[in-house]
Amino acid sequence: MRVLLAQHLGFCFGVRDALMIAESTDRPDLVTIHGELVHNEAVLHRLDELGFHRQPESNRAEIPATPFVMITAHGVSDAERQRLTAAGKQFLDTTCPLVVRVHRAALELAAEGRHVIIIGRPGHVEVAGVLEDLPSGEVISDAAQARNFERLRLGVVCQSTTPPRVAEETLMAIRRLNPDADVRSIDTICQPTRDRQDAVKRLLPQIDVMVVVGGQNSNNTRELARLAEESGVPTHHVQGPDDLDPAWFLEKTACGLTAGTSTLDTTVSAVHRRLLRIAAERETAECREAEIAIRGVGVSGGESDGVTRSSSPQPALSRSAAPPA
Ligand code: SF4
Repeated sequence: MRVLLAQHLGFCFGVRDALMIAESTDRPDLVTIHGELVHNEAVLHRLDELGFHRQPESNRAEIPATPFVMITAHGVSDAERQRLTAAGKQFLDTTCPLVVRVHRAALELAAEGRHVIIIGRPGHVEVAGVLEDLPSGEVISDAAQARNFERLRLGVVCQSTTPPRVAEETLMAIRRLNPDADVRSIDTICQPTRDRQDAVKRLLPQIDVMVVVGGQNSNNTRELARLAEESGVPTHHVQGPDDLDPAWFLEKTACGLTAGTSTLDTTVSAVHRRLLRIAAERETAECREAEIAIRGVGVSGGESDGVTRSSSPQPALSRSAAPPA
């Protein structure tokens, strides 16, 4: 079995920059991270070890006790900033510039007097932050939730990690169901998300099993898994190498590997190494079986020439590129 890595996978610059800011903080004990800095258990554990206070996403209404608040890459609304500022908090702001772009686009559409529809995951922190600042807006997840919104002016933006196909289908449905409305959309899907999804699409014709690495609550990781699943390729969403089951790869010839934007490089490398080991072990086992079969023919088959041969074929493990650093 070969293991093929997607051309673009793992950390995006937004998550990498957020973690660099966290790692370079002098006094983590004075900082509360406002929600999950990234949706990745290994990273959150590391932040705990550094001494940061963490406020669960479900509990962001509470004012943190520390003097500093770290805004995550997913951003917050202006209203939330004002609330925290009024409580005397200072910010370490790691909001991704591409999330800021979603906020600006939504406010631009709202300033034109439009009811703003955000295509994204209801309740996701990025979406909640954008929605909170809008005088009139709502969130829908896909085309099935589109309806006649009974407004004459509509604006449409997307959560940054929305799959482009979902965004296109939903926008078409909005236009179809609101024929009398003036609909203006602004494309706010981030480039790293597009790159990772396009890389998976290019990989799919070459593989017969797929492994996607990332947190179970990482939106973009789940979208990568969904993209692969929808193509019919058996897909396994794992958080680390220990989640891999060798039985998934029996009879498979090529395994694809990708990872969400919040997955550590070290985790991707560990999963890659384990996949290569599984491939090597399987091919060694197959070679042993072949050897036994050949010997069996030599002993009992009528085609034997009477010579017992010592057949020791080398496992022909085909490896793709070296694991990422
Ligand atoms: S996924 Fe896109 S929007 Fe989100 S942090 Fe990464 S680059 Fe920024």
